[in-house]
Amino acid sequence: MTTRSVARLVHATPQLEGEGMIVTRPFPTAHLDQVDPFLLLDRMGPVTHGPGDAKGAPDHPHRGFETVTYILDGAIEHKDSQGNHGRIGAGDVQWMTAGSGVIHSEMPADEIQRNGGRLHGFQLWVNLPRRDKMMKPRYQELHAAGIPAARSEDGKVNVTVIAGESLGTHATIDTRTPIMVLHVRLAAGARFTQAVPETYNAFAFVIGGEVAFGDRQARENDAVLFDRDGDAVAIATKSGAELLLIAGEPLNEPVARYGPFVMNTPGEIRQAMLDYQSGRFGEIG
Ligand code: MN
Repeated sequence: MTTRSVARLVHATPQLEGEGMIVTRPFPTAHLDQVDPFLLLDRMGPVTHGPGDAKGAPDHPHRGFETVTYILDGAIEHKDSQGNHGRIGAGDVQWMTAGSGVIHSEMPADEIQRNGGRLHGFQLWVNLPRRDKMMKPRYQELHAAGIPAARSEDGKVNVTVIAGESLGTHATIDTRTPIMVLHVRLAAGARFTQAVPETYNAFAFVIGGEVAFGDRQARENDAVLFDRDGDAVAIATKSGAELLLIAGEPLNEPVARYGPFVMNTPGEIRQAMLDYQSGRFGEIG
């Protein structure tokens, strides 16, 4: 395998949003609009809310892409216009394909809203190819115990395989285009080489600790973008670390985005707004 070099390192600074949530967003920013096919990565928290402080995202629409929510601490309640209703707690994944249109709400669990509590998680937006943008919405929810996990022979590397493959273990989530989403936990002194097909765009986001990708060091809240000059990513840590490794086949299609709608042309964005305003996304039952 040939190790990829680091193209760019983007340090994301935690921001306090209006609703009291701490959000760390490596992209989109003025400096990095996307990592095709990924449109957005948000780290939510970690934050400890007081009673009555936790606010979420009430009813809002999406069209043309997928939202992937991965909770590490706390719990989120989800309801949507397709009739899905789920509680996503620590270690759970929700992979929602908005396709032609979904209205959903993403709120901290009732007991966290009432009593306060800790919240920590991620949301990733995955673009859909033109052929799938108007597909029927789809909802995949995986609870922690059902997500495949892999461990290296020396026990120093533990990987939660949300999408793609690692250490011979395959994910169960079905993706529309080839995608890899791995949560990698490294013990002190761990070294790990993860195969990543050469055609994929790939980046890592450091959740905690210090990591070396070849001769580049990265720390918490760094997004590390790799060149497409190899078929593997080499990861090492002295003192232990935790990161997401996210990669996918680029779509190489035009992106027209406006808030919660991501299409290929401005005309399709206008249509999305019209369809939403005229109630064609349905409603939360
Ligand atoms: Mn949403």
